[in-house]
Formats: sequence, structure tokens, C-alpha cells
Amino acid sequence: MTEYEAVIGLETHVQLKTKSKMWCGCANAFGAPPNTLVCPVCLGMPGVLPVPNEEALRLTALAGLLLHCEIPRRAKFDRKNYFYPDMPKNYQISQYDQPSTRNGYLDFEFEGEVRRVRITRAHLEEDVGKSIHFERYSGVDFNRAGVPLLEIVSEPDITSADMAWAFLNALKELLVQGGVSDCDMEKGMVRCDVNVSVRPKGSAELGAKIEIKNLNSFSAVRRALAYEIERQIDAVRRGETLIQSTRRWDDDAGITEEMRTKEDAHDYRYFPCPDLMPLEPEDAWLEEVRARLVERPLERKQRLMRKYQLPAGDAEVLKNDPELGAYFERIARGAPNPKALANWVINNLRHQLAEANERLAAEHASTGFDEGPPPRLTLADLKFPPEAIPELVALVDSGRISSKIAQDVFAEMFATGERPAAIVERKGLAQVSDTAALEALCDQAIAANPGPVADYKAGKKAALNFLKGQVMRLSKGKANPQLVGEILERKLADS
Ligand code: ADP
Ligand code: ZN
Ligand code: MG
Repeated sequence: MTEYEAVIGLETHVQLKTKSKMWCGCANAFGAPPNTLVCPVCLGMPGVLPVPNEEALRLTALAGLLLHCEIPRRAKFDRKNYFYPDMPKNYQISQYDQPSTRNGYLDFEFEGEVRRVRITRAHLEEDVGKSIHFERYSGVDFNRAGVPLLEIVSEPDITSADMAWAFLNALKELLVQGGVSDCDMEKGMVRCDVNVSVRPKGSAELGAKIEIKNLNSFSAVRRALAYEIERQIDAVRRGETLIQSTRRWDDDAGITEEMRTKEDAHDYRYFPCPDLMPLEPEDAWLEEVRARLVERPLERKQRLMRKYQLPAGDAEVLKNDPELGAYFERIARGAPNPKALANWVINNLRHQLAEANERLAAEHASTGFDEGPPPRLTLADLKFPPEAIPELVALVDSGRISSKIAQDVFAEMFATGERPAAIVERKGLAQVSDTAALEALCDQAIAANPGPVADYKAGKKAALNFLKGQVMRLSKGKANPQLVGEILERKLADS
């Protein structure tokens, strides 16, 4: 039986992180009552003129740089003409043959490997209004009309539903960390059109492109693709010829349905927008944008693994949390044991912060005022200075405290800001390596546990661990466990 493979290209729209809309001063904000963020420009009244939002142009170029795109010396805006009640101008301003950025790529990890998907272009486009259907009539909310969107078009380099999912997550992480978009799915900031075809494995030709619309979450993209790939392969195996068409994803039913075929595809009659000058970015302007470029998440992960020999799992956590990554690097630079430091930062510090924030959220909820988000504790609010973590690790490494006691010291230091050495001193937590004191505790444990002692002597070596545990308990966790083991073994052999 012929094997088939999927070919997928994505067109992802993300809302740019600007204060105002693309052509007017109306706020780019979510959740306002319908038609309160509007003016003659974004309502498409006759006679008004659009004025480009500089920050949207900068963010577009910034996204292009993050995606390794070229930023052409000349770009322009075009009118995409169609009729729809949510767009009274009857055209949407977009970019057609001369986009602001093109020919880039996104590298991301998938199934343990770095994969590359080429980016055809990332261009600017305005959002339109939103139709709302009531029982007996419909309304249009124009709050979104004129909100700046970035449309990121990929080459058909994606080969499975899971890979599309990984691509979208990597794209989102890049744009969020790059400051281009908040990519908040719940606020509709990311929308995706999916193009998919199938072909015999190894074939160089592309099959008929089928576009799926109405995908509002990454998991919907993944589910729609999984369904559609199977549907297409089944159809081809049955001898059907697939034709270029557009389908709609029905999320509840979990199926795609045909909307239209190529014959009734839109002809948008694109033409240059006469109201807007072509864009001709200058060197100085581009340099300003380039100065805002951050390290890409995957690059940070790879660098942390190389530079500090971090395991992939640790580097992954720091890849997704740039602030934590920066905090780690502050204390790890030049440290003899960066791995141990990463461990403290990722496990203890992150968990203490999460717990503190849970408490804050619970308190906030219990006050009965649900206005605004709960206060959040961040790395900037820590009571102890960053050096305190290397100090704590040094206390463990030198054998002054056990790693178990170190957990308690950390919790104390997190709560009060007191330095680890001072906590150890004040609470008398230093590890007991004084042999006389340990001998006494060992004698006590042996005397109190004749059963396990007999077991040990009868050859049950595991009984030693039990006795060791008893000594540790008697010492309140402060005994040097290795010494205890040695003393116990000696005493049991002698007696
Ligand atoms: P259109 O002209 O209809 O916009 P494009 O060729 O510009 O089509 O491609 C739009 C999107 O569809 C891109 O993401 C591209 O990678 C993808 N695409 C194009 N042809 C195919 C195909 N045969 N199978 C799957 N995806 C495709
Ligand atoms: Zn407006
Ligand atoms: Mg196209």
C-alpha cells in the first residue's frame, strides 16, 4: 500500500502589542463595551485618512528580525477588497506583493531534534470588526477594527499535526519574549489558518491545497490537522481526486466541512492603497529596532547547556522563563558548580515563589475585592540578595550543613532575607562531625534497637540504614551521615 505524507503551511495572525490602533489613536485594548473604542477612521467613514502607527511598523520589523527575515528597503500597503458587514470600507488594508519582511525561518525543537520551518513573509494587516449574532438580529462591534495584526506565513515545511503544534508554541514563545505580542489566546490575540495536502511519501509534487478556517486555539489546530490528514489519505486511497478548497473546523463535532471550492474562491483585486506612502525603512531606524532584539529562546537554551553544562530539562525551564534565566546567570557566572545553582534556582526558588504567589492569590480572593489581578511576588521582590544562593551551596559543599538542612535554611532565608551562614549559626544547624558526639548518639541508637542490631549481625545489611536513620533523627538531621555510617559499622563489628 502506498504510504502518504502530509504537507502543511500555516498562516498565523498575531495581534501586535501597541497602545493604539494601526491608523488612529483609539486604544488597542480588550474587553471594553462594544463600539467604545472607535472613531471615524476605524469605522471607515468616507473622507478620513489613515496615519500609520510607528510602533506597529517597528514591531513588524522586530518580528522579522526574530524570524531571520529580510527587511526590504521598500514595502507598501495594499487594499484587499471584499464585502463584509464587519468592514464598512469594503477593503482591508494589508500588504500584498511588497511585504515588510520576508524569507526567514524559525528553528524549534520537535521530537528531540531541531527542526527548521521557513517563513515566507510576516506582513502587517489591520483587523476588522466582529459580528455578534443575537436571536433576532445581528450587531457589529468595531472595537477590534483597525487593530494591528502581523500575519506570519510559513512555507509548507511542516509534516504532521504534532509538528504544527510545536511550531506554533515556539512561534508564540519567540514573539512573547521578543515583546512583539502577548499572544493571549483567551483574548483572541492569535488566530491561525491551516493549509494541508497529502502526497505519496517521497514525492516532490504538492497535492491539492486544502485550507481550514476557524481555528482559535493551538489544540484546535492540532486536532483539525489530525482529522483532516486522515480524511485526505482515506479519500486518496479510495481513488478520489482532491481539489483545492476551503473547509471549516467544527470544534464540537471534531470534523472539517467543505465551505467552498476553488471555483468560487475570492478574487480580492488587491491594489496599492493610495492613502499610504510606501515604507522605506532607513538604516538608523532599523538599527533602533535591532537594538530591541532579545536572545531567542532556543538559542538561550542551547547556550545555557553549552556554557554551564546544564541538563536539557533545566535549560528548558530557563528557556521559557527569561527572568529566571537572567537570575541564574547572575549567580552562575564564574561559579564552580553552576549545575547545583541551577538546581536551587529551578527547584527551591521557583517553588517558593509559586507557593508565595498562591498564598497571595488566596488572600486577595478572600478580601472579597475581585478588582484587578492579585499582587504577585517576583524575583525583584526577593528579600535575600542573589549571592545568598551560592553561599548556601558552599555551606553544603564544605560539609558544614547537610543538603536536607539546607532546604530549611533556604526556606528561612526566603522568608526573612537573613543570610545562610547567620541562620546556621543562630539556629545551631551546623552538621555534627564531632566524633565523640556522634559516637554517643550511635551508642544510644544501638541500645534502643536490639532487633535491627541482631538483624544486621545475621547478615541483613539493610538494617544499617534503619539504624543510621535513627541516629539522624536523634541529631535532628544534623549528624554527618557518612560519619554515622562508618561509626555504626565499626561499633557493630566490634560488639
Ligand atoms: P494563496 O495564494 O492561496 O495564499 P500560497 O501559495 O500563498 O496560497 O500559500 C498559502 C499557505 O499555504 C502558505 O502557508 C503555504 O505554505 C501553504 N501551502 C501552499 N501550497 C500548499 C500545499 N499544496 N499543501 C499545503 N500547504 C500549502
Ligand atoms: Zn479609531
Ligand atoms: Mg498567498
